[in-house]
Amino acid sequence: MQKTLVMKFGGTSVGSAKALMNATQIIRDAKKDWTRIVVVTSAMAGVTNLLLDSARLPTDQIVGSVSDAESKLREKHFSAAEALIKNKSLLEETKKEINKLIEIFVNLCSAIQILGEASPRALDAVASLGERMSLRLLTAVVNESGIKAKGIESTEFIVTNSNFQNAHPDFLTTKEKTQALLNPILDEGNIVITTGFIGANVDGAVTTLGRGGSDYSAAIIGSVLPSDDVWIWTDVDGVMTTDPRIVSSAKTLSEISYGEIAELAYYGAKVLHPKTIRPVVEAGIGLRICNTFNPTHEGTRLIASRKKNGRVIKAVTAIQKQRLVTIEGRGMLGVPGVAARAFAAVASTKTSVPLITQASSEQSICFAVPAETADNVLSALEKTFAHEIEDDDIDRVWSTDDVSIVTVVGAGMKHTPGVAGKVFSQLGNNGVNVLAIAQGSSEVSISLVVDANDTENAVKALHELIVQ
Ligand code: ASP
Ligand code: MG
Repeated sequence: MQKTLVMKFGGTSVGSAKALMNATQIIRDAKKDWTRIVVVTSAMAGVTNLLLDSARLPTDQIVGSVSDAESKLREKHFSAAEALIKNKSLLEETKKEINKLIEIFVNLCSAIQILGEASPRALDAVASLGERMSLRLLTAVVNESGIKAKGIESTEFIVTNSNFQNAHPDFLTTKEKTQALLNPILDEGNIVITTGFIGANVDGAVTTLGRGGSDYSAAIIGSVLPSDDVWIWTDVDGVMTTDPRIVSSAKTLSEISYGEIAELAYYGAKVLHPKTIRPVVEAGIGLRICNTFNPTHEGTRLIASRKKNGRVIKAVTAIQKQRLVTIEGRGMLGVPGVAARAFAAVASTKTSVPLITQASSEQSICFAVPAETADNVLSALEKTFAHEIEDDDIDRVWSTDDVSIVTVVGAGMKHTPGVAGKVFSQLGNNGVNVLAIAQGSSEVSISLVVDANDTENAVKALHELIVQ
């Protein structure tokens, strides 16, 4: 078996000439240990937002914004190309290709302006251009440095459904296409460089896997090739015990289990796109998160299960700007279907719910939603339960001011009694009032809802439990 490695470089890891140089050196070093390497690139940092911001403006403002965006895109990509590509014809060719993509951007925006509407499909066509540009740039830079590399767009082999902006891959077709297309290139001794984030539906229309989806691309490619390892290159040393902006003594974890990282990614730690984990777990592939700007640091390794004697609590996260919505009323007691109708109403507003609790008296259901969705959610609920509200079976449907969901994560909680007790006394001792609690049956995390003003205090206090 040949050893195959998939490496993904995030936006900051390809975001400047310096970063691209580091990435190239990382690829060169990896070639010493790995026979087959696939590199997945994000758009340069800030580019996806820049592209989408123009396309999403009110139509009368698009034109002005586009010419501004156009020059920013040119500046960003061309200055990195000029700094790193000394070969004149390669430089000119690269700039020409990037320019073509910028022209597509301008044309798409004027089409959106004429139609007066940006469909999800059109927005995906726009968003895909960031990765398509960085692919040209990175491939040229790597080739220039003397490494044999071939660039290929992932639209050629990642086949998805037509759920634009959040497309789901068809793993079987993707597997066939990926192997058929990438294996010959790899077998000739090239490294493959490809785009993260994007795929295409069966008709060939470009789709995206959702914002931040390049991690997921790397996992998909790793699982279908298959690769032995997937490495995610980012701009921090790995997964940290908490957000270092809140707690300066936060540390990088050298290992974390799949269950723990899934929980962390879900509860707001911005290290990995949550969908990344499943394909690699199912294929038994190793995953490592590491820092382009500190490549000798080992980063964080994902492991199948928690080591015995490891720390019980591994990390603390906070999702901010949430509201707690409560439906309460004595008439709900023992009435089947209230929860089903409530969540159907929430789903109709396309809001996802990160946390749910129901008291066993069944007299209230309470759940969190992102603050900006709360008004919509409340009116959907009031509509759904109009009769019950009129008949006083439901007393009220209301939401709090902004709250945060603070989560402690650690697979060891499963086997260690008293963790919840410690968590609550720690919060109590630090004067933090807990508004709601949820513990998943996986027992890998406990989530607490606290007032927005208590967020920092809660995170700091709980972080102290990690080092104890
Ligand atoms: N460029 C895309 C985004 O920012 C995908 C990624 O970077 O993972 O959402
Ligand atoms: Mg990005």
